[in-house]
Amino acid sequence: DDLAALLASRIRDVPDYPKPGVVFKDIAPLLDDAVAFAALVDHLAARAKALGATKVVGLEARGFILAAPAAYAAGAGFVPVRKEGKLPGPCFSQAYDLEYGSAVIEVQCDAFVPGERVLVVDDVLATGGTVEASLDLVRRAGAELAGVAVLMELGFLGGRERLQPHLGEAPLEAI
Ligand code: 5GP
Repeated sequence: DDLAALLASRIRDVPDYPKPGVVFKDIAPLLDDAVAFAALVDHLAARAKALGATKVVGLEARGFILAAPAAYAAGAGFVPVRKEGKLPGPCFSQAYDLEYGSAVIEVQCDAFVPGERVLVVDDVLATGGTVEASLDLVRRAGAELAGVAVLMELGFLGGRERLQPHLGEAPLEAI
């Protein structure tokens, strides 16, 4: 549709980044385009409202850029999921595998009111490891998953299939 075409036209392929053989989807041209950025944020906010989300969760770091304004526009709160060691106080931690090695992400234990509905937002769904770990965190922190929204899905990496068992009734949208 029109929104998807507009957004796609503002995403740039960067070959051999961050390493040889990888084609990186660079969203900088979308973020610095006032019309495209507003259209994306408005869409995410409408999504949060339609799903009854009272919190929008952003995944470090590009997820923050999208989730925070969407939360504001939806009248919802914003919650960051961060790399380990960045958040003060008690946190839930979740390890997940990267192509080489592993990483840990965290959310503060008191980020959610028990049972509240959350929309999880990130820029790119690749292997799905990052979103999968964040869904575990959201559940352990007592929230209910309302949905997942990503700007872009790299279908050949199988992220959607990986997330399927964790989604329950919650929709996964790639805009
Ligand atoms: P996954 O855990 O699904 O393999 O990787 C997703 C995470 O890596 C996301 O947080 C996303 O920001 C980042 N990522 C992986 N590939 C790309 C890419 O091509 N472009 C951008 N912008 N982010 C990527």
